[in-house]
Amino acid sequence: MRPFEYTRADGLDRAAQLCGGGARPIAGGTNLLDLMKLEVETPEELVDINRLPLGGIEERAGGLRIGALVSNSACAADPRVRRDYPLLARAILAGATFQLRNKATTGGNLCQRTRCYYFYNIDQPCNKREPGSGCSAIGGFNRIHAVLGASDQCIATYPGDMAVALYALDATVEIADASGGTRSLPVRQFHRLPGDEPQRDNVLEPGEIITAVQLPAPTGGMQIYRKVRERASYAFALVSIGAVVRMDAGRIASAALAFGALAHKPWHDPRIDELLTGEVPSDALFDRAADLLLEEARGQGENDFKIPMARRTLKAVLREATGDAA
Ligand SMILES: Cc1cc2nc3c(=O)[nH]c(=O)nc-3n(C[C@H](O)[C@H](O)[C@H](O)COP(=O)(O)OP(=O)(O)OC[C@H]3O[C@@H](n4cnc5c(N)ncnc54)[C@H](O)[C@@H]3O)c2cc1C
Ligand code: SF4
Repeated sequence: MRPFEYTRADGLDRAAQLCGGGARPIAGGTNLLDLMKLEVETPEELVDINRLPLGGIEERAGGLRIGALVSNSACAADPRVRRDYPLLARAILAGATFQLRNKATTGGNLCQRTRCYYFYNIDQPCNKREPGSGCSAIGGFNRIHAVLGASDQCIATYPGDMAVALYALDATVEIADASGGTRSLPVRQFHRLPGDEPQRDNVLEPGEIITAVQLPAPTGGMQIYRKVRERASYAFALVSIGAVVRMDAGRIASAALAFGALAHKPWHDPRIDELLTGEVPSDALFDRAADLLLEEARGQGENDFKIPMARRTLKAVLREATGDAA
């Protein structure tokens, strides 16, 4: 690990100013410190944001506002989260381990970086780590890589679970900047596809710090998080789906679906939600939903299996969410 300056911020404005000047915020450190040990990331200064008043979960605007420093464990254990947003609790609990979830934070989890093997190996070319150096995963080992939204510069996936739930729940991210300003944006607009700038995972600008995530008022309905992975625990998803589905008189009254591990960002396709809404569940309908999801899916060789796996998982989730009516 390279030497770095360490500052413990005691005010949000100061933290944002330091980050605007090139420092990196550190929260739980469970991703950033690993990357620094491997010298994948080499920030010259870290700003510890753990003493900022960004903790706590409070009721706001009919929903819940979850502070950026709320640990994943605390979020998943909150009785209001468990009652009204069980999808979020389940997605968090499907990730990592007790120890990691105790340290990992809401803001840090959203910003966690890809698990592409080549990204973590500084001896290998990687456009995300070093723009212009090439992508070792294209034509290499790409079992965990993207089948949707990839570019010819990067085929990495976003690996997290919590964000998939936040996409299905249509949460909003609150962000503070170095000039003392704030902005909010739908979480569905927070992460980026790689395009020709794969080094950028999300839309945060230097100096911007996530302060909270706002959940909208609960909608009820069936909430499911299904994670397909190689082991029962302590493994990232190969395919995951977050679903919020409300039924009314045998029809799907509303549906919101998000998909993990298929693309550089959690994947939300509003056409799928629209297709399902108002319809009577059927196997044919679920196939059409899967057709929409996968119409532009392209495997890279070793990850071709993800395409039929995503179809099967989507159909299984929809059957369960609609009460096995199909
Ligand atoms: C062995 C292992 C297994 C794991 N398994 C899973 C899994 O199955 N599913 C899953 O989803 N995750 C998994 N994780 C990832 C884990 O969830 C993340 O490391 C964690 O959520 C990151 O949160 P943190 O607070 O520790 O972030 P940090 O490591 O502190 O920061 C991560 C990034 O976010 C930035 N950042 C932190 N806070 C803010 C903020 N408020 N505003 C702006 N930027 C910020 C940092 O600068 C850094 O770039 C695993 C991790 C490990 C080590
Ligand atoms: S897929 Fe992306 S992260 Fe992985 S080697 Fe290629 S450029 Fe790097």
